[in-house]
Amino acid sequence: MTRTPLIAGNWKMHLTRPEAVELAKAVAGASKGLTDREVMIAPAYLSLAAVKEAVTGSPVRVAAQNVAWEKQGAFTGEISPPMLQDVGVDMVILGHSERRHVFGEKNAMINQRLVGALRFGLTPILCVGETLDEREQGNTFKVVAEQLSQGLQDVQAEQMQQVVVAYEPVWAIGTGKTATKEQAQEVHAFIRTALEDLYKKTLADSVRILYGGSVKPENIDSLMAQADVDGALVGGAALQAESFARIINFT
Ligand code: PEP
Repeated sequence: MTRTPLIAGNWKMHLTRPEAVELAKAVAGASKGLTDREVMIAPAYLSLAAVKEAVTGSPVRVAAQNVAWEKQGAFTGEISPPMLQDVGVDMVILGHSERRHVFGEKNAMINQRLVGALRFGLTPILCVGETLDEREQGNTFKVVAEQLSQGLQDVQAEQMQQVVVAYEPVWAIGTGKTATKEQAQEVHAFIRTALEDLYKKTLADSVRILYGGSVKPENIDSLMAQADVDGALVGGAALQAESFARIINFT
């Protein structure tokens, strides 16, 4: 089963619009000619349109960092799937640990967002991952299994082909502490088995599972060499053109 690797940059709440456009152009340049992998960047909402325009003509995909589940309505502060599609966005990060732990989003709401995204034809990246405490208590698999089964509730097999999963241990995000390649592979393999239990093996084998958590130029190659690591979701190192270019060009 071949899964096209995906390197995704999450810019979080960084960069003004001109800064975002400048970085997007650099990413487009660094992605030129790459046909064996996909590259995606997720700027803040206000930069989506300008970034999409800046990468037009390149293979770089543009994603949002969250999305609401309805077309429109009384949802102050939210952005709808058609609003994203209007500016050319077709992917969205959901359930990022900062959404879960800073803004209190629970599995049920993340599922609502995911089902809504799929209904409108957006490709969701569902983030899962345990806190340090949960890992130390031996609950990593339990937490990840719950985030997966609840996050994917009511997602049909044919829709699941659109979904990307990102394993992002909370203790590794923005901390400089990367999971070892063995730790990443262990949880990725577990996620694939959990997907097999929820769907079936052929489908589980086709789902891309990204690793996220202090991915850097120095560790990308060894992470990507793991059998079940199909890409990376990159925060800090995606904010500098040079380091993200090296990550995109992993070997
Ligand atoms: C992220 O934002 O999803 C992330 C993994 O951040 P960092 O690479 O900075 O740890």
